[in-house]
Amino acid sequence: MSADVIDGIAVANRILSDTAVRAAQFAEITGRKPCLATVLVGDDPASHTYVQMKTNRCRTVGLNSQAHRLPKTAATVEVVALVAKLATDNTVDGILVQHPMPPQIDERQVFEAITPTKDVDGVTSASFAAMALGDKGFASCTPAGIMHLLDAYDVDPAGQRAVVVGRSSILGKPVGMLLLARDATVTYCHSKTVGLAGVVSEADIVVAAVGRPRLIKGSWIKSGAIVVDAGYNPGNIGDVEYTAAARRARLITPVPGGVGPTTIAVLLAQTVEAAEAAHIAA
Ligand code: NAP
Repeated sequence: MSADVIDGIAVANRILSDTAVRAAQFAEITGRKPCLATVLVGDDPASHTYVQMKTNRCRTVGLNSQAHRLPKTAATVEVVALVAKLATDNTVDGILVQHPMPPQIDERQVFEAITPTKDVDGVTSASFAAMALGDKGFASCTPAGIMHLLDAYDVDPAGQRAVVVGRSSILGKPVGMLLLARDATVTYCHSKTVGLAGVVSEADIVVAAVGRPRLIKGSWIKSGAIVVDAGYNPGNIGDVEYTAAARRARLITPVPGGVGPTTIAVLLAQTVEAAEAAHIAA
């Protein structure tokens, strides 16, 4: 067997074209484009590239963006003050704080300064709670992107055994909860998991969210499983041993071109949603 490859770029493009239509409608009604404000602290080249990609994408889809930068020596209180100012700025609909931030910054304190109605990256505890409780709120973008990929390929998680490797608050934990909300039977694995190979080999759906190149071996994949690789390691390498896994899986995401593109698409879609909701509430 050789897996069908999940085309994340095509799925992302569909989300983006829908977002562009909604952004244009919003601009026509309100006389302004939806706006994403980005906050970058320090000069990490990868973070800089990610922010640049997001603001470029805003332009192509018809959103405004504001890029805010603070030096790498900035204190938590300065970053919080900037985010709090953006939270009350009526011309800003969504706020994205690029992370990781420099080590002296208390990331949680910064995230909590984002008002939940502008938390289009889904990083506040209010957004996390809403997602966990199935309430209205913005999901963390990569987990939501993964659910779009599964839906696009008619994968119904109900009753499936899903194994999520990784339990970070922005990726592993929320994607497991979204799968649970869709009635999958979810197991989380992490750095202290004993017998990772055995757990993964029982999965109908494997989500790799670790950040360790090719940690998940192809031989661990159950025949006919669905493999979603959210890992992104230097050299465009995922967390899954792709070629060997593709021989056993039914569906697999490539790296790059799988999960990654949907993350930005969800971010922009949620920014337009935030703008629409703010306009209705006004
Ligand atoms: P993270 O915060 O470093 O979390 C990594 C998780 O992997 C932790 O829960 C850790 O367990 C677990 N882990 C580490 N070593 C392990 C091992 N040997 N066996 C099993 N589990 C292990 O990373 P993250 O932010 O979630 O990101 C994970 C990956 O996704 C990275 O490659 C990142 O670049 C990528 N990512 C991609 C996107 C995208 O848009 N495509 C977005 C976000 C992240 P403990 O909790 O026990 O430490």
